[in-house]
Amino acid sequence: AFEYAPAPESRAIVDIKPSYGLFVNGEFVDGHGKSFKTISPSTEEVLAEIAEADEADVDNAVKAARRAYTRVWGRMPGSERAKYLFRIARIIQERGRELAVLESIDNGKPIKETRDVDIPIVAAHFFYYAGWADKLEYSGYGSTPLGVAGQVIPWNFPLLMLAWKIAPALACGNTVVLKPAETTPLTALLFAEICQQADLPPGVVNIITGAGATGQALVGHPDVDKVAFTGSTAVGKAIAKAVAGSHKKVTLELGGKAANIVFDDAPLDQAVEGIVNGIFFNQGHVCCAGSRLLVQESVADDVLARLKRRMATLRVGDPLDKNTDIGAINSAEQLAKIRELSDIGEAEGAGRWSPPCELPKHGFWFPPTVFTNVTQAHRIAREEIFGPVLSVLTFRTPAEAVEKANNTPYGLSAGVWTDKGSRILHMANKLRAGVVWANTFNKFDPTSPFGGYKESGYGREGGRHGLAAYLKGGVEQ
Ligand code: NAD
Repeated sequence: AFEYAPAPESRAIVDIKPSYGLFVNGEFVDGHGKSFKTISPSTEEVLAEIAEADEADVDNAVKAARRAYTRVWGRMPGSERAKYLFRIARIIQERGRELAVLESIDNGKPIKETRDVDIPIVAAHFFYYAGWADKLEYSGYGSTPLGVAGQVIPWNFPLLMLAWKIAPALACGNTVVLKPAETTPLTALLFAEICQQADLPPGVVNIITGAGATGQALVGHPDVDKVAFTGSTAVGKAIAKAVAGSHKKVTLELGGKAANIVFDDAPLDQAVEGIVNGIFFNQGHVCCAGSRLLVQESVADDVLARLKRRMATLRVGDPLDKNTDIGAINSAEQLAKIRELSDIGEAEGAGRWSPPCELPKHGFWFPPTVFTNVTQAHRIAREEIFGPVLSVLTFRTPAEAVEKANNTPYGLSAGVWTDKGSRILHMANKLRAGVVWANTFNKFDPTSPFGGYKESGYGREGGRHGLAAYLKGGVEQ
């Protein structure tokens, strides 16, 4: 029994306005279209009324971005662009507490993650790409920007996905129109204020809110030169079709069903921490979540016993409580999807277990859950659940581990737990995944490229490779 411990960064430090317009050409303007509400998934309270950009609004934003590109940003020396990016990075650090609290309220994720993971990595991305802005001739992809980037992002890491998109685009000299996800617009709108505070020239960053139709209008706009999308594989495929044959350069970061592979020689307590982090970090709303545990048969019972003991210590609840490990599920819709697939897992014969766990009365919640006796035929072993739900499969030999790990349409990430260096290298070569973590999981750094194989998408974000997406000389991987 823990005491309730609200973080010092409590609700009082954020100023949520009753309504928000669109951020176009450096100022907040009313949209022509309708509006929608963003709610707190942990309380279901309405947080604010948000403008829904229609085609005319999208067109205004793209025009503003084009003007800023042609007249200012596309001609500015890299060393000058760097100054703005460094300034934005520093303001993000200064306002980090505010951003963390707002993200936790709007998204539902625990404050210890927004404060210690999301926001520091967001700032790190701006610092990192600021450093590239005047060194692009060493990128290997030339130094010529593409023009106007249309960027569409999901709700699971609202500000981090924004940083992954905006920082490299601006460093390379492009201007941006970005659409955040409909359930998590607030930190992107606070970022718009930060752009004002940093005196970023009007039109360099435009933030337009709305749902799928707004995203569709943005990626389909004829004056957008570059489309960057992170989200579901289904929408990614629709976007690839919509832009096929156009001049637009496209990067897609899509879904995943990562294998976290534990060999019998692994340090097991450390591996259990990695399994927990792999699937319960951010409520499992993680494209690279270790949602399939592949454990070597000889240690499977031992690992499972340790895992259940550890899961029993996880605290589900108020995102602003600094002791919370698992926050709220982002939306009623997502909760329904997690429930449906979990019920299917049970109906298909897998063994379902969650620790005793009292869930709050209001809001959207799901307990940490593990499924045992899972086979590759089960839907919970094949489909992305995007929640705190782990499917456990076993293997006998490294070859069997490779075969099962790769037996998925996705290929975003994988984890390997073993004491043997040679085995790590062997597995990293055999696994068809963009990232392979060894004796760790869910580690992100701005210097490392991130991206998928197969239906997890194409293109890389992060590191030097991430510049390719925003420069004329960049070739898609
Ligand atoms: P989603 O595809 O439903 O929505 C993503 C974004 O696309 C939202 O902003 C949405 O409004 C917009 N959108 C919807 N339909 C559109 C259309 N036809 N044209 C243009 N934009 C459209 O995904 P989601 O539910 O928000 O996010 C979860 C998914 O994102 C998961 O599958 C997850 O794996 C994936 N994801 C991938 C990465 C990665 O880096 N690979 C990172 C985070 C999330």
